[in-house]
Order: sequence, then C-alpha cells, then structure tokens
Amino acid sequence: MAAKSRTAQTRRRFLKLVAGGIGSAVLPKTVMAEFRYLAPVNVDNPLTAYPNRDWERIYRDIYRTDTRFTFLCCPNDTHNCLLNAHVKNNVVVRIEPTYGYSKAQDLYGNKASARWDPRCCQKGLVLARRFYGDRRVNGAFLRKGSKDWADKGFPRDPVTGAAPKELMRRGWDSWVKISHEEAFAYHAKTLLNIAQTYSGEEGTKRLLAQGYDPDMVAAAGGAGTRVMKFRGGMAKQGAIRIFGNFRMGNSMALLDQFVRKVPEEKAMGSGSWDSYAFHTDLPPGHPMVTGDQTNDFELFDVENAKVIIVWGMNWITTKMPDSHWLTEARLKGAKTIAVTVEYSATASKCDEVVVIRPGTDPALALSVAQVMIKENLYNADFVKRFTDLPTLVRMDTLERLKASDVFPAYTSKPLANWVNVVSKDDHPAPTIKQNGMQMPEALAGEFSDFVMWDAARNAPVAVSRDAMGELFVKLAGIDPALEGRFQVTLANGNKVEARPVFDLTKEYLDANVTPEQASKVTWAPATAIRALAHTVAASDGHTLIACGMGPNQFWNNDNKDRALFLVLALAGSLGRHGGNIGSYAGNYKATLFSGIGKWTVEDPFHPQLDPKGDIKTRYALRYESMHFWANGDG
Ligand code: SF4
Repeated sequence: MAAKSRTAQTRRRFLKLVAGGIGSAVLPKTVMAEFRYLAPVNVDNPLTAYPNRDWERIYRDIYRTDTRFTFLCCPNDTHNCLLNAHVKNNVVVRIEPTYGYSKAQDLYGNKASARWDPRCCQKGLVLARRFYGDRRVNGAFLRKGSKDWADKGFPRDPVTGAAPKELMRRGWDSWVKISHEEAFAYHAKTLLNIAQTYSGEEGTKRLLAQGYDPDMVAAAGGAGTRVMKFRGGMAKQGAIRIFGNFRMGNSMALLDQFVRKVPEEKAMGSGSWDSYAFHTDLPPGHPMVTGDQTNDFELFDVENAKVIIVWGMNWITTKMPDSHWLTEARLKGAKTIAVTVEYSATASKCDEVVVIRPGTDPALALSVAQVMIKENLYNADFVKRFTDLPTLVRMDTLERLKASDVFPAYTSKPLANWVNVVSKDDHPAPTIKQNGMQMPEALAGEFSDFVMWDAARNAPVAVSRDAMGELFVKLAGIDPALEGRFQVTLANGNKVEARPVFDLTKEYLDANVTPEQASKVTWAPATAIRALAHTVAASDGHTLIACGMGPNQFWNNDNKDRALFLVLALAGSLGRHGGNIGSYAGNYKATLFSGIGKWTVEDPFHPQLDPKGDIKTRYALRYESMHFWANGDG
C-alpha cells in the first residue's frame, strides 16, 4: 500500500513538473534531478559487483552429482562404448562419454588415438531412461501359456506330441513374474520334458508327424536334446555370456544320458545355431573364403581408402560412434558410394548411390567382376601372386588338379609361409602369440600342392600354398596362365583337359552376368554397374567395402561375400591399408579370447575343477547353420 502511494505521488509530481514546464522557463537541473536514477550504471565486472548471486546455486545444483561410475554400454549394440554415469540421490541423472579412449593402453604399452573419442550416441546418453523405465525387465518372467502348460503337466497331442496351440501364443500372451528359483525349476522341467518327448523311436515319429523335414529329424539322431537349439545371442554380449549358451548346449549331454540311459560317449548335447544363419549379423561367405570368422578392417584405416563402398549398410545411422571415420575419409578425398535398397541417411551423404532390388547383391557384385575382366581392368599381378585363380581345374572331374595327380610319387612341401600346422596332439598358441594361420593337421591335406600352367615354359608346374605374395616369384618362379585350355598328362599316363579357375570364372560371368543381364535382376542401370567397375579398378587397390548385415538376411547370401571378395581380388584391394572388406559386426573379436573354444565344449562329464589343470573337450553339441538346410544339403 505504501509503495502504491509512493508511486502515485511520484506520478503526480512528474505531471506537475511537466505541466509547469510548458510555456514557462523551469530550471532544467531541477527537472533532471528527479531522473538521476535513470543514468546508465557503469559496472566493470557484474560478477564481482552483483549484490546477490545465490540464484546461481540453483543452476549449479541441477548439475551437481554425488558420485560417478564408469560402465560399458551393453547390450545396446555392438559398439560397446565406455560411458560415465553421474549419480544423484542414488539415481543416474546424466550419462556422457568417458573421453578416455586415448588413455587406454595395451599390455605392450600401445596407446589408442584420441580420435576414438568421444565414443557415444544419443541412445547411450539417455540410457538411464531405460534403467528406470517401466518396460525394464527387472526380474524373471514366464509367458503365461508356458507356465500353465508346465503347471498342467505338459499336455501334448497324443500323435504329434505338439503342445496345445492355445497355450503357445508367443507374442500375444501376457507375462507372469516369478522368482528366479521358480524360473530355474520351470526351465529344468521343460528341458526334461522336451528331451523325454522327442527321444527314441517315439520321439522321431512325433517329429515326422509334426511335418519336420526327414533329413532334419534324422540329424537329431534320436536324441531329444538335439531338437533344442542353443545359441549365443546378441542381447547377452560379452564373451562368457554369449558362449555360455553354447556351453549349456554342450552340457545337455548330461540330460541325454539321463533320459536315454546311453553311455557317456554316446550322449548328445543340443543343436546350436550359428550367428551367420540365425541372427545374420555375420557374413557367411567370409569363413568360406578366408577360413577365418570374419575378415575386417580397423576403422582408423578407412581414411586410407580412395573409394569406400558402403554396401547394404546404413553406416551413419547404425554405426553412430564410428560415423566420423567416414566423414574424415571424405575430407581426405575418398569417394563414397552407397549400394543400397533405399535412400538411406548414408546414401544421402555419398557421392554416388546405386539402388538395387533387395537380395540381388551377388548379381551386382558378379557383374562388376564381369566388367573388370571383360575390359581388362583387373590387377593381373595381384591375381597371379595372391589368389588361387590361376590354379588348374581338371575338366573330367571338375576338381582342382593336385600336383600328386600330375607328377609321379609327388609329395607336397611342408607349409611354412604364415602357416603353423598344429599336430593333433598339440594346441595352438594363445591368440596373442599366434603368428599366422593355425591349421589343424587333419586339414593339411586340403592344402596339398596344386598346379598352375606356366605360360613361359608352356607346361604344368606344381605350386605350394607357400608360394604366395612376395614369395610367389621366389618359390614358384613362373608366369601362370590365367586363360586357356591345356592338355595335361597325369601321373598314370592319362590325359585330361585343365583350365585355370580364372578362365572358368570368366566364362561363367560372360554367360550370365553382363551389366545388361544383371540390370534385369538388380534393377540397377547397366551404366551404373559399368561405372562402379571402372571406379573400383581406378582406385589402385584402395577400395574399401563395408558390407552390412542387411544383405545377410537372404538365403544363399554367402554368394554375396564370395562375389565381393572376387571383385576386390581382381582389384588387388584385399589385405592392405585402405583396400579391404569388412562387416564391422563386432562379434568377430571373439577370436581374440583365447581359450573360449575350449571352455565352450569342455566335456560336461569331466569338468576340470583345478584352475591349472588341462581341460578335456568333447563336442557333444552339434553346430548347425540354417544355410545348411536351406541349401538342401541336409
Ligand atoms: S553407440 Fe550408443 S548405444 Fe551403442 S554402445 Fe555406444 S552409446 Fe551405447
């Protein structure tokens, strides 16, 4: 009230002064004195002069946290970013990158580059919402139908053994929260019931009555445990958790022995599906071509490429913390090309885009290879020294011609170039100490010396697998023919026609996948296919293909990998800085965990309890790939 009266008085005083001033000579000093508080305030540093800064504490308190912990963002995806979580009142309120990658050091003192930082993405930043979200799975749950089925004593159709449909409503059913002890009990009871139902002749009849392919049923071998499929899944991440599932599958041999009363050595574990077929994040053609789980490149190498083909991968959207490698490669002048089925975020950033029909990747890659050979754009020197394309195939059997087929009493040379043949009584060294390929003795015969046709001498020559790369000239010392049909006299005196793998490949490509033919399959313009081939060939062995898991989702997709390896082999663009192929799926790093294989298939009947004792292994489980069945090989 007092303030209001003062204001009114001031206004009245002001009006009086103004009115008095009109037409009269009021002293200006008097008038302006009334407004002295309107003069500009001159403060050098408001932060020191401001009378009350308590308000700032509010903002500081918002961001002040009590503690911090570092954790791996897992299993959000396979990037496994190391993050910092800030905690206030026992609640994670903020997550941020650690910025610690450049401080990481391996056992040998090697340090990572700061360019791996910051490693994070928007999903990681808001991960705390999932910790506290109402959809977090924070206990053991059982599908209601499953629980009812178990509680009723596992009723089944008397003929097929199938469980009642009304109780098997996956995806539609509700969940019942149970204790972990109850969950273990339900799990064990269910496994036992499955093993009992599908074991023996009765079990086989039931599976056939359910309509399973007879070959699949035969592969179960009468063991109910074999119809169980255990697989290390993405959601588990981490070596022990992923491979723990396979170990569990191996341990099902204990259950089989209990159910079928068979001797230990005949007891069978579960079937175990691989990540190539069931989950498809790994490229199946990679182990077929290289013998290794997955061929891959380190991301720091991307900037060494002249051409980067992002094939079936939406790198920017799905490889969030690693998008910058692509951007930086572009800044350094790399040409980027997206092979995609849609106009993805990555495609919109690339210099060129080739849009194809889903699942037609093999046709596109083979057509690129066709152009490279047809137009003589391939790197013949690389093809001759680093690939098996010059090796001869005998046309009577279509088998690769072996040196022992041709040269009487021929004995293959021992392998020593980047190969260590591991005898059956020996173990390979720990991964970190291995230097090159570890070949089991039993497989050594597969690498027996083969034959090339020496164009200089016009004669067949035995060539060891050791004669590769830098050692090719020294050890083989020939100029192998890539094209032609040759008469070869075998050690037994017979004559056969033999042709280089390259020659046969060329004939197949010319007959089936010219750009015009491939265009009908892929819907990519023939001009785009030719342009792609020319670009790869012009990269001087510096084409890098990052092939995503999208194309892995199609049957027979191993052909896509084989065809891409062919393209890069022709370009001399494999196994070198800036010239390679990879999928960057993440799981390939499992090979670095020495001993994981042994741990996975430890003999379940004789577990080693002494930490220093040797582990007895036994493959009781049966690794299966759905590709195996899809190809009709069953
Ligand atoms: S990329 Fe994102 S979601 Fe994936 S691990 Fe890193 S922070 Fe987590």
